[in-house]
Order: sequence, then C-alpha cells, then structure tokens
Amino acid sequence: MAIRKFIKSVLRPMVSENVVPSCNVCGHMGGFIDNDPVRPRESFQCPSCRSNSRQRTMALFVGGVLGAWQPMVSWQADKNVRIFESSGFGGYPRYLAEKFTYYNTKFDPDVTSKGGYDNTKYADVQHMSYEDGTFDMVLSSDVLEHVRDYMKALHETRRVLKDGGVLLLQVPYDHNRPETFFRVEVEGDKDIFLSEPYYHAEHYLVYRDYGRDLLTWLKDAGFSAGYINFELPRHKIPRQDMIIAAKSDYLDLSGISRLFEGRR
Ligand SMILES: [Zn+2]
Repeated sequence: MAIRKFIKSVLRPMVSENVVPSCNVCGHMGGFIDNDPVRPRESFQCPSCRSNSRQRTMALFVGGVLGAWQPMVSWQADKNVRIFESSGFGGYPRYLAEKFTYYNTKFDPDVTSKGGYDNTKYADVQHMSYEDGTFDMVLSSDVLEHVRDYMKALHETRRVLKDGGVLLLQVPYDHNRPETFFRVEVEGDKDIFLSEPYYHAEHYLVYRDYGRDLLTWLKDAGFSAGYINFELPRHKIPRQDMIIAAKSDYLDLSGISRLFEGRR
C-alpha cells in the first residue's frame, strides 16, 4: 500500500504536466496560439476552430449545464433546447446552431428600435421581443459592461428564461472589489462620463467594470447566483471567472462540478 501511494504521488504531477491540451469545442489536440499575451482570457486560440480561452470557457459551462462533458463537436443534438446569446463569437456558435435552437443575435438600435425585425438575428437585451419562458439558457459573454441599463437587461433575461433556466455570464469582473466601478453614469438618454471614455474593439463603450455587487443585483433581479474562479490547463484555459445564475430558488452545480473532476 505504501509503495502504491508513493508511486501515485510521484506519477501524478508528471501526468498532469505532460497532458496534451485539447480543445473542448472542436476536439483539436496539441498547441494553442498565444496571440494576445497581455490578456490571457482573450488568448490561447485554437488553431482549428479559432475559439479563444474565454469562448472555450463559455462552451465548457454550457456543457456542464446540459450534462455534456465531451468536446462540443460530439454533443448530441436536441432542437428542443433553446439557447439565446447576444454577440456570440469564436468557434462554438456554429456547433450550437447545428445542435440546438440557438439565437445568436446582434444589437443594432437602428433595427431593434423599429418593429418587425427578425428576432432570431437581432435583439436588444434591455427590451426583448420573446415570450416569457422561451429559453433554457442565456449566454452573455462580455456584453453586459456595454449595456446602458444593466438592471433592465437582467430582469429581461430572467423573464425570457424558463423556470430553472440558466444564465451564463462573463464580464470584466473583480471579485475582490465590493463595488462596481462606473465609468459612465446613465441618466435618461444621456451618458455622463465619470472617466476617460474607454472602448472595447475600438467602438463598444464600456460603461462599467463589475465588482461583487453584480451578484447582489442578480439576486435583486430574481436569480440564484454564484461565481467561480478557475483554470483548466487541459483545455488551455488560464485563470478566469464565470458567473452562473439560475431562475430558481437554488443553484444546482452538480453538472458543472463534473467539469473539474479527474485530471487537470
Ligand atoms: Zn477548437
């Protein structure tokens, strides 16, 4: 027994160091491209499906919620599963579209301010045109920091989710910061700049960098919410955050916990 324990303790670190990272979206095994070393979350692009580490994180958690732990490419299709996303990018949207009823929408106020637009392609998360309880899941990856009325967006998101539905939320977030840093205050139609205007991708204004009060706001909007900070070297995912919110009285994390079982 003692020998076996000894062998295990010697072998385990070797195994995890030598593990070949794989893409949890397309199944690619091998190297990833460190194309944005300053922002690891945006980097480690898969050479095959082009997903970066933030997008692989989203894909991973979608699987955790659905109970699918293989690479997304081999998930079972089920068109009864309805997923909403605003501005989904990277390697996974094509697979979600193939397998599920997936609305990957753009925000264009010129379109959404008028009626009669295709709501499978366009959406304003502050005023959604879907019936109550339409979706099993809502994905929001670095969108909420650009939304003027984030509370409206959270209420709307909860409304369009089915009971028990899940919101997977990625935002610029610092769990050590109790309060959100507001870059822009919103007053009616007016944006009041509290600091130098700051944009993502050159033209998307960042209204705020979230702190822990985001979890309270999710609760205020009627969600059960939790947060996880993790890394997953086996999928070349460096340390980052995911916020999980459910339209129910509790968060069931058993599916998600399975993502972290076994080898790192
Ligand atoms: Zn890939």
